[in-house]
Amino acid sequence: DKQIFSGIQPTSIPHLGNYFGAIKQWVDMQNSLSKDQDTRPMIISIVDLHAITLPKDPRILNDYIYKCAATLVSCGIDPERNILYQQSQVAYHGQLSWILGCKVTMPQLGRMHQFKFKSDGLAEVPLGLYTYPVLQAADILLYRATHVPVGEDQLQHLELCRTIADKFNNTYSTNYFPSPIPLQGEFTRLKSLRDPSKKMSKSDADSNSRIELVDPPEIIEKKIKKAVTDSERLISYKPDKRPGLSTLIDLECAVTGQLPEEVAERCMLQAIDKSEYKKHVSKLLIEHLAPIQAKYKKLINDKKLLDDILDDGAKKANKIAEKNFHDICKIIGSR
Ligand code: ATP
Ligand code: MG
Repeated sequence: DKQIFSGIQPTSIPHLGNYFGAIKQWVDMQNSLSKDQDTRPMIISIVDLHAITLPKDPRILNDYIYKCAATLVSCGIDPERNILYQQSQVAYHGQLSWILGCKVTMPQLGRMHQFKFKSDGLAEVPLGLYTYPVLQAADILLYRATHVPVGEDQLQHLELCRTIADKFNNTYSTNYFPSPIPLQGEFTRLKSLRDPSKKMSKSDADSNSRIELVDPPEIIEKKIKKAVTDSERLISYKPDKRPGLSTLIDLECAVTGQLPEEVAERCMLQAIDKSEYKKHVSKLLIEHLAPIQAKYKKLINDKKLLDDILDDGAKKANKIAEKNFHDICKIIGSR
């Protein structure tokens, strides 16, 4: 059987990178799932335990959990058809993480790009930042997931998850854990608007580097206007030489489904310059996000509904997790 699992950190409001790299894939999968009899409901976790690997004010974390849930539902995730829940409400994640941590080595964890990037420059590096991929492997394997839709930045973690699953299976002569396969959409790495050598990230200190899905129109305009490009006046698609401008073209393509070359050709024919082009991209994004934002505005004020959604999701997730964790304990010789 196919089991799809994915997660998102409540470190801020989801941005266009999260949307085109992950959330949109989830929605598309959900919509094709009902036709696929062999597939169990998709499991989507708001991973709050991952979000505290770097310091987080409790009020802010709490606020972002609701905002993340409201954003996902507004983007089209149906909490009835899927399991949408908050990671810390299923205690087995932490418990399985311990067991899996005994199947991974320190050099394996030290090689992770995300760890290197996020620990760079910190005076004190939290252990949780280092063991993050172990908890992530537990998230996935707890539900015996077979498919994990993620952006490109998570491929290395997923590879490690497969290594851990293999190691566990070999150690205990079992095939209990499937080897989860990453699923990637078309837009797997949207770049930061301020520094195209980086990916767009929720945790980037500069909020101008990302467009959040609920940014109002004037903020979207401002952020696109400020987006770093280059000194050439006209439009061409060259991700290596003109990464900043090419990201804007990527955004247009993500929204409209055109090819970047088509967009560049049209702009050349019409001699559109960068400032005109930026206005065009802003307009497209504002229009595209409007229906999501309209739903979000209603939902975010209905805390009771959001609580019900997350509690119901946790109930469903706990049911699966409890059974699986019990089986895992038996495999390792525990009672
Ligand atoms: P943080 O900076 O706190 O790590 P993030 O923006 O990286 O936040 P995550 O919650 O870590 O977001 O990741 C959620 C999903 O979004 C993952 O599947 C990840 O691969 C995907 N993703 C994150 N950033 C991008 C991006 N810039 N382009 C495409 N996909 C992305
Ligand atoms: Mg991330």
